[in-house]
Amino acid sequence: MIRVLFSAPDSRWAQYENVLPQALRDAGVSAQVSRDLPPAEVDYIVFAPNPGLRDFTPYSNCKAVLSLWAGVETIVVNETLTQPLTRMVDSGLTQGMVEWVTGHALRHHLGMDRHIKGQDGEWRDYVPPLAPDRKVTILGLGELGQACATTLATFGFNLHGWSRSPKTIAGVQCHSGPDGLKDALAAAEIVVVLLPLTAATENILGGAEFAAMARGCVIINPGRGPLIDDAALIAALDSGQLDHATLDVFRIEPLPRDHIFWAHPKVTVTPHIASETRPKTAAAQVAENIRRCEAGLPLLHLVDRGLGY
Ligand code: NAP
Repeated sequence: MIRVLFSAPDSRWAQYENVLPQALRDAGVSAQVSRDLPPAEVDYIVFAPNPGLRDFTPYSNCKAVLSLWAGVETIVVNETLTQPLTRMVDSGLTQGMVEWVTGHALRHHLGMDRHIKGQDGEWRDYVPPLAPDRKVTILGLGELGQACATTLATFGFNLHGWSRSPKTIAGVQCHSGPDGLKDALAAAEIVVVLLPLTAATENILGGAEFAAMARGCVIINPGRGPLIDDAALIAALDSGQLDHATLDVFRIEPLPRDHIFWAHPKVTVTPHIASETRPKTAAAQVAENIRRCEAGLPLLHLVDRGLGY
């Protein structure tokens, strides 16, 4: 019998206490799932950051820590974590992100705010360009960035993407490495940020990067707050270099009530809801990884500690 420790905020247990054991049964894995097990008897830890587990040292027989989150920046730096770490890749999470990014990109592409906020009797005959005449850049072409790019490509946007390693994606002009960022951002009109937060990506967007974009560019950030230099963002919005920022993630969450982002007319705040891990599909992914590990197969979606994602 495999022993699986579920270590996540209390609210998550209700979502997983039935679906995770069921997913393990479906995967043919005989397992006990519990929130309380003697550390030395734990085979796997299903994990989301929580105050109850910060020291992984006692889990000496644990074969892997399986993150319920796609972003692992707070776990990967934990020096007590020596076990293999996997991150969440979940079809429900991916679909949610595609829907959120597409919705917000189309809001800005079509200039919807002119009409939603402008019901004042003025006949504004603004005609937006068609998608092929709009340069959209996606920073990060991993699970989420690539799925968003593939969907936006179906509209025919002039799509560019940027990643660490070179990529080939139909309908997307792909750029890579530090030198590729400049080309990816040059004259971009909508920039979607779907990078992980690592030492190499913190503050990746600042004054110089905003200046490279088209005047009036829109930033959409469902990645992580510290990817953007907040002061440079406000300056670029105030100068008109940027027209709008739609932000789902922040350096401090929940975003403090008195933060300038709440009141700024060119900022839309959404409360880290761009996409959620969906328990049913996520449990199936966790169960599949445990099945693989027990069968001696490599774990899927392993985090590279050196790269930090
Ligand atoms: P992923 O599959 O690991 O993809 C990350 C992408 O970023 C990859 O294309 C990677 O390049 C690229 N990248 C990493 N470091 C880079 C660097 N230094 N320079 C250029 N490109 C770099 O991650 P994902 O699943 O798509 O998730 C992305 C992020 O979304 C997560 O880390 C998390 O922060 C965020 N997220 C937010 C929410 C929300 O609700 N707001 C939900 C889920 C996830 P390579 O392809 O070359 O490796």
